[in-house]
Amino acid sequence: MKVYDVIVIGGGLAGLTAALDLSRYGYNIVLFETNSYPRHKVCGEYISNEVRPYLKNLGIDLLAAGAVEITDFEISTRNGYKAATKLPFGGMGMSRYAFDNLLYEKASQQGVKFIFSKVSEVTYKHDQFLVTTEGMPYGAKVVIGAYGKRAALDKSLQRGFSYEKHSWLAVKGHFRHATFPQNLVALHNFEGGYGGLSKTEDGTVNFCYLTSYESFKKYGAIKEFNQKIVSKNKYLKLFLDKADPVFENPLSIAQISFQKKEPLVNHILMCGDTAGLIHPLCGNGMAMAIHSAKLASELIHHFLENTTYNRSQLEKDYRQVWNRTFKRRLWYGRKLQHLLLNKKSIDVGIRTAGASKRLLKFIITKTHGKPIE
Ligand SMILES: Cc1cc2nc3c(=O)[nH]c(=O)nc-3n(C[C@H](O)[C@H](O)[C@H](O)COP(=O)(O)OP(=O)(O)OC[C@H]3O[C@@H](n4cnc5c(N)ncnc54)[C@H](O)[C@@H]3O)c2cc1C
Repeated sequence: MKVYDVIVIGGGLAGLTAALDLSRYGYNIVLFETNSYPRHKVCGEYISNEVRPYLKNLGIDLLAAGAVEITDFEISTRNGYKAATKLPFGGMGMSRYAFDNLLYEKASQQGVKFIFSKVSEVTYKHDQFLVTTEGMPYGAKVVIGAYGKRAALDKSLQRGFSYEKHSWLAVKGHFRHATFPQNLVALHNFEGGYGGLSKTEDGTVNFCYLTSYESFKKYGAIKEFNQKIVSKNKYLKLFLDKADPVFENPLSIAQISFQKKEPLVNHILMCGDTAGLIHPLCGNGMAMAIHSAKLASELIHHFLENTTYNRSQLEKDYRQVWNRTFKRRLWYGRKLQHLLLNKKSIDVGIRTAGASKRLLKFIITKTHGKPIE
């Protein structure tokens, strides 16, 4: 059996970035992904600029690939109070259809082997991993877990949150809209949830929302929920009334968990949402996925190059740097989600002109990092 230097499980942004980064050093890398590229994904598709320099370093220039530049942010409450500000770092709008595919093509060119198959089990014995897919075992020195928010694999790894039911669901669609500004990302609150609007590389507007199952279940169907609840926010009603859907049916996912997770499980280095999912209102999950892949890749490179740097040191360092970089952001994300979904506190915050500016600045600075070189 061939033993790979690195096996990556999951080819979303975290897995693709790690594979791309490590492929620069000529390692034998195989990436397992369930779905083929390109494909749409449930995501707000606003990418924080903090990852721009690092992506450029990896040979990925999103603006040159058609991403739109986003400079302005606005937020509204379900009662129609609105506040706006310039984004301190700014960001970009690009669909996951285009973004993931761009990384996939680059990683393939750089020699990463892709196997489109679902990993069902990972075991670790005698300092080596055995990764199983469709009954076939693959050996590896290092395994990166980048399989997203939740997968059957979590159960096989006996991760606590995988046994619980989770009460969030998300819906996404692309729309043609004549007047939505190119440089804006907007966040609009409604009963039990919130939705984001921003443009993508092909000129369509992404409308993606997160809602509690509790709020959704009374209606059961997306169309009805949009009419009865989402459209109670006047800005979302204005948008939806004039928007022309591009997808025949919106995409949706359920059982989204924001529970605390571990960045290391059974010697597997977890990256992106597999290590921890920040609340989408922060608009920073993609940047965190990419950043965590960078942190893991640096340490893995060090481990594979230096015989004196052992696995327990690698694991200790990854846990430490992951916690130092993301733990506070996740904490603020949880608090902000609570604040945004509390009708009274968000109304007061946004209505008071001075407080709203402070609130917006707070949301952005506490949940984002500095540009990553
Ligand atoms: C409603 C919503 C809106 C969001 N909006 C934004 C936003 O505007 N900006 C932002 O920055 N972030 C946003 N996020 C967060 C962002 O989408 C995620 O943080 C990001 O996609 C994480 O990337 P990832 O690579 O960790 O996971 P993913 O992109 O989910 O990739 C995981 C991959 O693993 C594969 N996989 C799963 N199981 C297996 C298996 N067993 N074997 C092989 N492959 C497997 C899956 O097919 C998938 O392709 C949002 C999230 C939600 C829920």
